[in-house]
Amino acid sequence: MVKPRILVVEDEPAIAETIQYALETDGCEVHCVFCGGVVLGLLQSNTVDLVILDIGLPDISGIELCKQIRKDSMVPVIFLTARSDEVDRVVGLEIGGDDYIVKPFSPRELSARVKAVLRRTRQAPPAPAERRAFELNRAKRLISYCGVALELSRYEYNMLEVFVEKPGQVFSRDQLMERAWDEPDASMDRTVDAHIKNLRAKLKLVNPDSDPIITHRGVGYSLKEYS
Ligand code: CA
Repeated sequence: MVKPRILVVEDEPAIAETIQYALETDGCEVHCVFCGGVVLGLLQSNTVDLVILDIGLPDISGIELCKQIRKDSMVPVIFLTARSDEVDRVVGLEIGGDDYIVKPFSPRELSARVKAVLRRTRQAPPAPAERRAFELNRAKRLISYCGVALELSRYEYNMLEVFVEKPGQVFSRDQLMERAWDEPDASMDRTVDAHIKNLRAKLKLVNPDSDPIITHRGVGYSLKEYS
């Protein structure tokens, strides 16, 4: 199994060392930094599974830093707070922290919290409402559904792209053919139905509980609005 990679942002060397020792003993790969200024760059250029973030840093407050991290990363964050920072703890969770640990803490408690957050964030993807089921990458001609990259034929991809770009809009077979086929006239009407059928089967493999393509009898097809 790949070791979880933990970034520790803590300006007190003794605390940073304690954390590093505890987590490395527990099978994590740990990288420590002593100020906040380098963190955004590190997160952009490295794979980090979890950040342990001291709120009282010399150059920036951990709260402010977490806000900046959240602008483009959902990496789990555990705050370290002093016992008196009750308000910071609350704010920390409100702005997207996943947990907090109050100093002084035992290495065992820390390890347990880290494991719990990793377990939670690895197993539970964001709720469906917060995240679009379909992700479109035009440059790679790739569409992901519920986080899974679909293996699509050329026409399946073309058609699904049309749907994903305009969720809720109903497309007739003619419109779909016009948009998805190079030579629309060469194909029969039924071809669209056949490709829709294959597409549905592939989507069902990923998520058996949902059928995001809606059939409008005598009219055409659409993609569910919130997918
Ligand atoms: Ca500190």
